[in-house]
Amino acid sequence: MAAHGTDPFTETDDQQALRALAREVAERDLAPMARHWDETEEFPQASWDAIRKADLFGITIGERWGGMGMGDVEAAIVLEELGRACVSSAILAQLTFNGPPRAFEHLGSDALRDRWLPMAASGEALFCIGISETEAGSAVNHMRARLTSDGDGFRLDAYKNYVTGGHKARACLVWCRFPGSVGTKGIGAVVVDLASDGVTLAGTHEKMGLRGTSEAELAFDDVRIEPSDVLLEGDPSSSDAFKTLIGHINHERCGNAAMCLGAAQGSLEYAIRYMNERTIGDRPLAELQGLQWKIADVATELEGARLLLKRAVHLAGPHGTPPPLETAMAKTAANLAAKRVCDEAIQLLGGYGFSREYPVERVYRDIRGLCIGAGTVEVQRNFIGTNLLRGAVPSGDAWKRPIL
Ligand SMILES: Cc1cc2nc3c(=O)[nH]c(=O)nc-3n(C[C@H](O)[C@H](O)[C@H](O)COP(=O)(O)OP(=O)(O)OC[C@H]3O[C@@H](n4cnc5c(N)ncnc54)[C@H](O)[C@@H]3O)c2cc1C
Repeated sequence: MAAHGTDPFTETDDQQALRALAREVAERDLAPMARHWDETEEFPQASWDAIRKADLFGITIGERWGGMGMGDVEAAIVLEELGRACVSSAILAQLTFNGPPRAFEHLGSDALRDRWLPMAASGEALFCIGISETEAGSAVNHMRARLTSDGDGFRLDAYKNYVTGGHKARACLVWCRFPGSVGTKGIGAVVVDLASDGVTLAGTHEKMGLRGTSEAELAFDDVRIEPSDVLLEGDPSSSDAFKTLIGHINHERCGNAAMCLGAAQGSLEYAIRYMNERTIGDRPLAELQGLQWKIADVATELEGARLLLKRAVHLAGPHGTPPPLETAMAKTAANLAAKRVCDEAIQLLGGYGFSREYPVERVYRDIRGLCIGAGTVEVQRNFIGTNLLRGAVPSGDAWKRPIL
């Protein structure tokens, strides 16, 4: 299957077929249950089963482990389509496409890949990532999680917060300090089977949105880590492993942006349909110019963000990682566009927009969490601003022209 189109704007026949398949699953299986998962806060098992049955979990995993070996372009296509129907369900695919399994494949040993990737590709197991701690979110370099030496391996002590899917996952990728680590030096990552002795599910958060997928607090108390469980060893004299891990999160950021775009697209389409049907007196809302301008503005923002995401994932190539500056721009634009679109969609539906019986209210709450996860909008802006001021330029010709 051809993994890549010739430019960011044209999807190959294979990519269009993938989009059609994801849309079919989203509309048939995910959309009708989205409200249920939100209201009940149940794990969206039926969504999991539908994504698995359609063989979508394995799209980014190498063929050697039962996957299809595609890249970030295809991951974004599927996440956009699933997010359009139910963001809580799309996150299950996000964790597989752009979470720990991608890190195992790109950064891990053959032993790690052979152990975990077949389970990820087939949809047999969910994987989660433990980076944040109660005192270290944006300031991830303040993390406390640490390993101590234990013969040929280690012992892990950590308390990870806001671990998406941590209550259902089979294994967790835990960022932690290797012996002797200070600051960003010596931070690396290990994989923990969540059935191991010393692992406890300490609780799950009660949230405003994304209520189908819980964010868990996981405690790791003196957990044995075998040498083969090490994904990336932290060297106490270097920040290289930490930088590699941070850079690899760009996959997750692009997936986050794709879900935001899909969710906002769903709300925008809903609002447009509503405006054509709803009459004020004898005129449909769609005839009111003030409201037409709202649609024009939010659709333009959404399309702008979509183009930025297309650039970022296209630059990753079939097997690479999306570049940091373009990724930060895409995530920022997608998060902000989604906030604006989803807010206006509620406004355009009037009182009904505020009702839990209409989907735009749920989507607004869901995308709110995406503006915080995978690095907040503020942290992305810090990165973009400081890098541009240091002379970095995003890819494309415009920034390479001499200043007039
Ligand atoms: C839905 C969701 C899913 C998540 N999933 C995971 C997961 O699976 N695994 C995981 O490890 N974590 C996860 N997180 C945690 C997430 O990564 C953190 O919440 C995020 O990094 C922010 O950290 P914090 O909550 O500690 O906020 P803080 O870092 O305390 O930030 C508070 C506020 O200050 C702002 N701020 C912080 N530093 C700066 C700065 N230097 N300049 C300007 N503004 C700043 C932030 O943008 C924010 O607005 C998830 C979070 C959410 C909401």
